[in-house]
Amino acid sequence: MIIDCHVHLYPGDAIAAPAAWAEGRGEARWAAMVGPRAGGGASLQGWADFDGLLRDMDAAGVDRSVLLGWYWETAATCAEQNSFYAECVRRHPDRLEAFATLHAAAGVEGVRAELRRSRDEGLSGIGELCPPAQGFGYDDPALAVALELAAAWRWPVNLHVTEPAGRAYPWRVETPFLELMALAARHPDVRFIFAHLGGLLPFFELNAAVAKPLTNVSYDTAASPLLYRPEVFPLVAKAVGAERIVYGSDYPLRLYPKLQAQPEFARFLSELRGCGLAPAELAAVLGGNWARLRGGV
Ligand SMILES: [Zn+2]
Repeated sequence: MIIDCHVHLYPGDAIAAPAAWAEGRGEARWAAMVGPRAGGGASLQGWADFDGLLRDMDAAGVDRSVLLGWYWETAATCAEQNSFYAECVRRHPDRLEAFATLHAAAGVEGVRAELRRSRDEGLSGIGELCPPAQGFGYDDPALAVALELAAAWRWPVNLHVTEPAGRAYPWRVETPFLELMALAARHPDVRFIFAHLGGLLPFFELNAAVAKPLTNVSYDTAASPLLYRPEVFPLVAKAVGAERIVYGSDYPLRLYPKLQAQPEFARFLSELRGCGLAPAELAAVLGGNWARLRGGV
């Protein structure tokens, strides 16, 4: 069973005209991130609609995808995407699950209501959030309420994490490890997923004091080919255990921009299969760990 726990999907009108769609909603950051690269290079963002996603999953043998919301800058766009994802899950509950996104600007009651609505409509987690990019603090009371609900409902929570020493790019934000560790410690009953191999936070877990508040944290592999050499997977497995790594791609991002004109799942899966993980570790990363995380074991 192959489960990709980090996939993004957008409504047709966003795909058709991303800049205009974003401008009408006050989503300048997203527009910049999916637009052409500074210096004129083609965007790393690939696009896929609902049918394209299912086609690409079939072609690569991906059984299920977890649709992650984007870290929008307004509560209204969050609600719009949550509704779109509810429709996607209704169309294919056998292949898709979806997480709700949120913005603290909705306030404690607004966030609570939006998450309840999302749950009623079939969504089953929170993320991908990135408070520093969205303009609120990791200590915002609305986020705390969201995490309390996530703990009560046994919803996983995916947070975008950047690497402190990573390259600079437009609109990059810092996601300080100390704040993430404090957040995980304040919410020990939440199953967190720190995206993008946690910006290599797993290696800091070689320090027992760092590892201690992070036992409820897993790390997804999203966008890794754009960031790290393939040896990163067995090394992270050695640092924190393969049971804490979950496969996610960041589809429809073009993870191999020189080799991929269009997004697809197969190339990254083949990188994972050849990266040096033992067969049992690989099976856990590709789906077993997600099933456990989701199932509450
Ligand atoms: Zn991310």
